[in-house]
Amino acid sequence: MPHVITRHCVGTCDTVCAQVCPVECIHGPIAHATLRSVPAAERGVRFPGVQLYIDPDECIDCGCCVQECPVSAIHMDCDVPLELRDDIEANARFFGRRRR
Ligand code: SF4
Ligand code: SF4
Repeated sequence: MPHVITRHCVGTCDTVCAQVCPVECIHGPIAHATLRSVPAAERGVRFPGVQLYIDPDECIDCGCCVQECPVSAIHMDCDVPLELRDDIEANARFFGRRRR
C-alpha cells in the first residue's frame, strides 16, 4: 500500500518530498537538482506538466513525505481522492511497475 504523488504536484514540484525520503524512491523526468535550480515562480512554466512520482515497489510507507508537501499532493494509495485515482497508476507506470 504505497504512497502516491498526485497531479497537484505539477507547477510546484519543489522536490522537498524527495529530500526527506529515507529510501530515495521519489523521482521524476527532470533531475531534482535541475528543478531546484529554477525559481519556484518559474518552475511551472519551465517544466509544464512535470511532477514527481513514488516508486510503489520501494516506498516503505513511512509517511515522512506527506507533511512536507506544500500542496498536499501526497496520499497513501487507499486515501487518494476519487477524482485523482488515475494518478496511482501513473506513479507505478513511471517506474515500469505494475500497480500493486
Ligand atoms: S512514504 Fe516514506 S518511503 Fe514512501 S515515498 Fe514517502 S518518504 Fe519515501
Ligand atoms: S513536496 Fe509536493 S509539490 Fe513538492 S515535489 Fe513533492 S509532491 Fe511535488
